[in-house]
Amino acid sequence: MTDFTMEKQADGVAIITWDTQGKSMNVMNQQGFHDLEALIDDALADDAVKGVILTSGKEGSFAGGMDLNIIAKMRDDAGDNPAKGLFDGVMGMHAILRKIERAGMDPKTNKGGKPIAAALPGTALGIGLEIPLACHRIFAADNPSAKIGLPEIMVGIFPGAGGTTRLVRKLGAMAASPLLLEGKLNDPKKAKAAGVVDEVVPADQLIEKAREWVLSNPEIVKPWDDKGYKMPGGAPYHPAGFMTFVGASAMVNGKTQGAFPAAKALLSAVYEGALVPFDTALKIEARWFVNVLMNPSSSAMIRSLFINKEALEKGANRPDIPDQKVKKVGVIGAGMMGAGIALVSAMAGIQVVLIDQKQEAADKGKSYTADFMDQGIKRGKATPEKKAATLDLITATTDYAALKGCDLIIEAVFEDPKVKAEVTRNVLKVVDKDCIFATNTSTLPITDLAQASDRPEDFIGIHFFSPVEKMMLVEIIKGRQTGPRAVAKALDYVRQIRKTPIVVNDARFFYCNRCIIPYINEGIRMVAEGVAPALIDNAARQLGFPVGPLQLVDETSIDLGAKIARATRAAMGDDYPDAAVDEVIFWMEGEGRLGRKSNAGFYDYDDKGKRQGYWPGLAEKYPRAKAQPDLYEVQHRLMFAQVLEAVRALEEGVLEDIREGDVGAILAWGFAPWSGGPFTWLDIIGTPYAAERCDQLTQKFGPRFTTPKLLREMADKTQGFYDHFGQKSLAA
Ligand code: NAD
Repeated sequence: MTDFTMEKQADGVAIITWDTQGKSMNVMNQQGFHDLEALIDDALADDAVKGVILTSGKEGSFAGGMDLNIIAKMRDDAGDNPAKGLFDGVMGMHAILRKIERAGMDPKTNKGGKPIAAALPGTALGIGLEIPLACHRIFAADNPSAKIGLPEIMVGIFPGAGGTTRLVRKLGAMAASPLLLEGKLNDPKKAKAAGVVDEVVPADQLIEKAREWVLSNPEIVKPWDDKGYKMPGGAPYHPAGFMTFVGASAMVNGKTQGAFPAAKALLSAVYEGALVPFDTALKIEARWFVNVLMNPSSSAMIRSLFINKEALEKGANRPDIPDQKVKKVGVIGAGMMGAGIALVSAMAGIQVVLIDQKQEAADKGKSYTADFMDQGIKRGKATPEKKAATLDLITATTDYAALKGCDLIIEAVFEDPKVKAEVTRNVLKVVDKDCIFATNTSTLPITDLAQASDRPEDFIGIHFFSPVEKMMLVEIIKGRQTGPRAVAKALDYVRQIRKTPIVVNDARFFYCNRCIIPYINEGIRMVAEGVAPALIDNAARQLGFPVGPLQLVDETSIDLGAKIARATRAAMGDDYPDAAVDEVIFWMEGEGRLGRKSNAGFYDYDDKGKRQGYWPGLAEKYPRAKAQPDLYEVQHRLMFAQVLEAVRALEEGVLEDIREGDVGAILAWGFAPWSGGPFTWLDIIGTPYAAERCDQLTQKFGPRFTTPKLLREMADKTQGFYDHFGQKSLAA
């Protein structure tokens, strides 16, 4: 069976239908390209064929893109000289798309050729848009839920099958930039307004409209193949184009801090391609695309942010238990977290009972959903009907009796074990015996909290991050006695609300906070040592972290840091390793510099809460050292502080699957996404080098950098984490 079939119809129109076997959406693979090329050759050679319509056999979609499993492995599969192997492969792809674009025209006169229309029933992403861009006219069905665009940049690559070169030549660099650099997706009408597709037609007339056009003897020479073509908005040496490229370069570097190789390569391909004729531009695009594929970051990002993320979302670590979909959820505590949890649950169509101590507090929690929906309506993303339906699903009350019939409870009351225990007991008096009880605690051990329940096997941690509606990761924590049904319930719930789950075992700070705290602490330690604060935060940002450690502690608040420090110190006694950090934060707390919320922290803020620069008082208390450390040393301290904690979490069995460690780190705290996560980063730099660096850092800065036993063993065998932990960890 082949994914492409052709039907030559009596009126001379050949319809090529793409229908990937065994998939709900079309994806492209190497064989697909060959099959498509063979059909195009056949249609162009057959005198009875006047033109071609390329469409999809899937209802409501054209194609989801390239099979990313293939891209992730392309470098390994490209032979002894991978760069050359990849370049030849990419140029082969260009040749096929260029054949569609030229459609048999005379190379000199542009005469002849057959019109080829793309007819998109719906979603067209990645290669699923690059192929249509090579066609002569793109028709899209008026399907508002369809997404059209080139999202490659989101997984660390860029459109490398001519999509970059064609889009820039079709729209101009300025108009193409949000689509290429941000991977912005549009519905068909917006895609038409942006100039990406040429016509939006009623879905039931899609093929007929394309047919009319094909048979109308249309002009098919692409503007860039015509004499006198000028790039919309101007090429780089045109005064207007010059400004675009200067601005784009600054914007890309400002946003990415140079940490994402694909963005830089894309910009280079666009700039250099704009200076030369089309076919040379395709070659330049191919070279930069190969450059990105050769960088380990691209396969790392694809593996973590696409393949493994999806595997976790599909339940890679779900116990084999019948469906546990949630019908009615009780949320106890309508504060910041509870209000967000109610919102995302109702948005997923789940009935919600939202409880607080006072009716006003419960109502305020519910109003968070109303405000969120109002903003959605303003931005055209929601309707008043959807708002009413979502609010209808939420009952805000103080009455525990309303929890009857709930199959899941999520508790988000104050972070106080006594309050949580009382709430647990009161809830269990009302709900049925099969209801699962979850706590959203961020610091208290699940096993301890489960003591308030007479069914600890049905007690679990479901740890959301703030703000709930924005943060895509949910950390599920198994207490010592948590049973498989509770895990399945939590995973099915996270799937319903369309977030990404990781499942970890119970331990101090679970997985994510356990790694974030040493990151923040390492930054604070450096302040005490006299390292310039700007060097600390910028070093982190240049690694691709969304915020540096000092900015992060200002955002999460210094008194919270001090509270956690006191609790940890009390629990650990003499083993407590962070006295040097506490000295700084206790002093800051004493000075009333509590972070953004008090408009005063490591940074100064203006009246509107805008950051103004570092607080000069910091330098008075901790004078800058004359000799500042090397950037790489600062970066390695910040990186190793986190990744060693991740390795220890794995060694101790808190993490059971390195995929969860990698995906969780990127989604929870923005761990250098280009690296693919802590374990992939260690694999990229190589475990022997990692162990050597740990030894050096330990010597210079102390035992917190001691090489964990597991890492040492792997270094001795020159083994990577994804080798060591086998096939299960590599892909779904
Ligand atoms: P919050 O103070 O904003 O809200 C807590 C709410 O619980 C308040 O509205 C309070 O009135 C209510 N409450 C207290 N006792 C109650 C009781 N007996 N019955 C019913 N309602 C009661 O706190 P928050 O930031 O939403 O945090 C809630 C929980 O989530 C905590 O366990 C916290 O550790 C955890 N958490 C917080 C964050 C965060 O970033 N804020 C992130 C992850 C987890």
